[in-house]
Amino acid sequence: MINWQAIAAELRHQGLTVLDNPQQCQKLSLDYFHFSPILTAQLQDKRGDLAVFARSEANILMIASLCVKYKIPLTLRGAGTGNYGQCIPLEGGIILDLSQMNQILCLEPGRAVAEPGVKLATLDKQAQALGWEIRLAPSTYQTATLGGFIGGGSVGMGSVNYGTIGDRGNLRSARIVTLQDSPQVLTLEGDATQSLLHAYGTNGVISQVEIALAPCYPWAEAIVCFETFPMAITFADVLGNSSGIVKKQIAVHAHPIPQYFTAIAESLLPAHQAVMVILSDYDQRAFQDLVQVHQGTVTRYQPQGKGPNLLEFNWNHTTLLARAVDPSLTYLQVFYWDLDTVQKLHQKFGEEVMIHLEFLRINGRLIPAGLPLVRYTSPERLAEIMDIHRELGASIANPHAYTIEDGGNGQINPNQLALKKEVDPYGLLNPGKMKSWHS
Ligand code: FAD
Repeated sequence: MINWQAIAAELRHQGLTVLDNPQQCQKLSLDYFHFSPILTAQLQDKRGDLAVFARSEANILMIASLCVKYKIPLTLRGAGTGNYGQCIPLEGGIILDLSQMNQILCLEPGRAVAEPGVKLATLDKQAQALGWEIRLAPSTYQTATLGGFIGGGSVGMGSVNYGTIGDRGNLRSARIVTLQDSPQVLTLEGDATQSLLHAYGTNGVISQVEIALAPCYPWAEAIVCFETFPMAITFADVLGNSSGIVKKQIAVHAHPIPQYFTAIAESLLPAHQAVMVILSDYDQRAFQDLVQVHQGTVTRYQPQGKGPNLLEFNWNHTTLLARAVDPSLTYLQVFYWDLDTVQKLHQKFGEEVMIHLEFLRINGRLIPAGLPLVRYTSPERLAEIMDIHRELGASIANPHAYTIEDGGNGQINPNQLALKKEVDPYGLLNPGKMKSWHS
């Protein structure tokens, strides 16, 4: 039986900020798991017992030592914007909030080194002042942290060029704090960092990160409307493969999804599909020519930074905005691989599954993936919808599961498990999220 008052006192004695009020602990225990009706039922009552804020690697080492000494579960938290309950403690214990560990340690052409709690938008803004920018950013990048993106995210703006955070070269090195008998700091470089990606903070506390940067362009945001779905997806695909037009974001929203975007209603046409693009303003003419060839209507074109941020209508912000209008909606994460499969699924489900595409590179090849909106009726129908997607050739990363394995391809990357065995021998980091650890 753990004496939480004594633990809190011990942490405070070390100069750390500790929250033990149940309301505050509840707030810091949860994330955006409620996009999934399945996860809501499974996770809504889960809570940490204490929340602690780290301001330095030395603080993390101190907290890690205490957790090992008393065998306390430790769940890490950045901004808590994950979608699968990644930072929800299943077995109570301490929540370690890293959002105050947010220093940028080095910014130079091509690379940045920062603490895990830095907000991606802050890092991006400072890099842009040097003519560089972050290669990949989730649509939550105004609030999400660098450590949280590595531990729980995968793709976003920039994926049309740089693929996923797991593509070799995007993450260059990381320092992690271990939960061994004597916690220590390890440096992982190159391929060794892969074990940390999407590991939900189960195999080390990331205390410092080095990422690659991309050259920055003067970006413009565009919306192009199309009368038919085939016209919209064909345009998006051709644009994605137009090497002479520099871009970092292409999304397609099938009718009736645009009706949920009330903040930009004046830039949308009734009963049309909307393609949203972030492109280099230098390529405006080439872009307009391509739109004309495909008989689209440009309803918005403006430099990035003016008006609502277009990124915040894409990726899982689409789901956020749609659910604000109709909370019964949920979503899937789909790799369609080709336009034929997109078309088949569009015809199969109609408005039960409203197609929202995001183009991204997988192993260098541009593919249509996406986060379609689903009119939820029951767990059984949701499972059936996923099965039909697979039967028709798509792959699903199930967002209605809270373990690494069930949210992925059913298996753990053996290197992730091996790293956990080395750095977390007592299984204290986010217990229950790496299924293979318990089997
Ligand atoms: P958290 O949610 O706090 O943490 C995520 C995971 O990382 C947790 O398991 C946590 O334990 C672990 N973790 C946190 N810090 C560390 C650390 N220092 N060391 C080790 N592990 C750590 N995701 C995308 O990939 N692309 C998107 O475009 C995208 N869009 C989204 C839109 C909306 C509206 C929402 C709600 C979510 C979206 N997400 C997206 C999911 C999420 O916002 C991102 O993955 C984000 O990068 C998570 O960052 P965070 O700081 O909130 O992490």
